[in-house]
Amino acid sequence: MLLKMKILLSTALVACTLISCIYCADVTIDETKWPELAPKYCNGSRQSPINIKTSAAKADSTLTEFTFTKYNDKSLLKEIVNTGKTIQVYFNSGAKISGGGLPEEYESLQFHLHWGNGSSVPGSEHTVDGKRYPMELHIVNKKSSLNLTEALKDPKGLAALGFFIEVRFSLCILFYILFNSLLRICVDRTKYYRYLGSLTTPACNEAVVWTVFKESIKVSKELIDLFSTMVHVNGSSSPLMTNVYRSIQVDQPVTTQSSSSSVPSASIALVIMALSLVVGKI
Ligand SMILES: [Zn+2]
Repeated sequence: MLLKMKILLSTALVACTLISCIYCADVTIDETKWPELAPKYCNGSRQSPINIKTSAAKADSTLTEFTFTKYNDKSLLKEIVNTGKTIQVYFNSGAKISGGGLPEEYESLQFHLHWGNGSSVPGSEHTVDGKRYPMELHIVNKKSSLNLTEALKDPKGLAALGFFIEVRFSLCILFYILFNSLLRICVDRTKYYRYLGSLTTPACNEAVVWTVFKESIKVSKELIDLFSTMVHVNGSSSPLMTNVYRSIQVDQPVTTQSSSSSVPSASIALVIMALSLVVGKI
């Protein structure tokens, strides 16, 4: 089973590298140059990612459970693109998130990944008490009531969900392979950090309600290593795509559930959309 997974995953990632690269020009621009590239926001005061200091996170009783709509429908995965900066997967219309203390329903647009250089050089964007995880999955959503242009100008126009990914032998992926069903046990959708921040790539729009889940997704070391050993910036003769993350920005006020809150811990057929994709779809 693991061998099968690895072969499928390898095929998927090779396929990714063959897809034309839309934003390759950007990848050579050092992030210290971003304020020149996008002066309106990249030098702003609510930039992402941040280091989350758990002891400073204030309790907020409005941070309720999320509802994910259509997230167990694999037909929603539209296409996978190597942007030259990440591997990005676009949703067909229909996937939505609500609850989670968000001001309204948000439509899910895409998800993508951040990574370092193999499992030994971590590459999550957010850190928690200084700890950087091997990878981070971001699901990007926009207010259903706005178009994307409007959302990018609204202080809460986008909602990004961040999931840390780390190494551990996990039954989750085996469950997927064996039962063709996204795991119901991997991430507790009721426990997360919340702050107001930005896109982590230019134009760094300060339009993002960030949610960073406390529980990490556990995957095999081999899966994490594959991203930095098989995904190229633009075709197989170009450099490998490694250290795909922005550096830590200035602290922002962070809130979380109070430790005494007892939000029902409903199971979730969530997110390991990334894994479902690489394992099964392509
Ligand atoms: Zn991201």
